[in-house]
Amino acid sequence: DPDPTTGAVIPPVYLTSTHRQDAVGDLRGGYEYNRGGNPSRDALQAALASLEGGRFAYSFSSGLAAEDAIIRATMKPGDHAVLANDMYGGSYRLFNRIHREWGIEFDVVDLNDSDALRAAIKPGVTKLVWIETPSNPMMTIFDIGAIARIAREGGALSVVDNTFATPYLQRPLELGADIAVHSTTKYLGGHSDILGGAVVLNDGDVAEKIGFVQFAVGAVSGAFDAWLT
Ligand SMILES: *Cc1c(COP(=O)(O)O)cnc(C)c1O
Repeated sequence: DPDPTTGAVIPPVYLTSTHRQDAVGDLRGGYEYNRGGNPSRDALQAALASLEGGRFAYSFSSGLAAEDAIIRATMKPGDHAVLANDMYGGSYRLFNRIHREWGIEFDVVDLNDSDALRAAIKPGVTKLVWIETPSNPMMTIFDIGAIARIAREGGALSVVDNTFATPYLQRPLELGADIAVHSTTKYLGGHSDILGGAVVLNDGDVAEKIGFVQFAVGAVSGAFDAWLT
């Protein structure tokens, strides 16, 4: 939407770290310290939610920061994830070299093999099924609707890394997935001038947790990156 104060059709880039309060706690437009919110970031998040057809969107300083926020928000030590046997190497490394050290467990399966997927899901323990389609770089295709249904039956959330298709070609939430995640560094950014990530989802409870991780951990997108994206 145009900038509410001036009507500028391109919302300006708000290069500020904090906002004046008219009295203590009397915020203008809800803005305070910018780790918690920045108008340029909010404009990007509104656009991302709209593109993916989701209720909530959160933008991050990189795709991996967005993925990290999903894992932190939905898993705790002892929990388990099912990962596709073909996914971006950095995403696998995040599970294998970072979160595994903190007690997150996972199995890698061919998600298109329904029986293997069902067998890998441990009810009550498996929290995420992680899909990336088309995958980077092998372009493997996974059936989002079928996998999301099996994940839900097993009590797990399905996450789709939609970086390569973009919401122009594929909208995971409409196909039944719980969470769409992006490296906006790639096609959403489009000009190879930023690093960024995004999480889009519909569930309010999970959204609140991801928003809290965004705020409390702080891997937010900067205003200029948000504006460029
Ligand atoms: C690049 C990429 C990522 C990681 O994103 P960064 O912005 O580099 O942190 C994750 N998933 C896919 C499919 C990617 O191509």
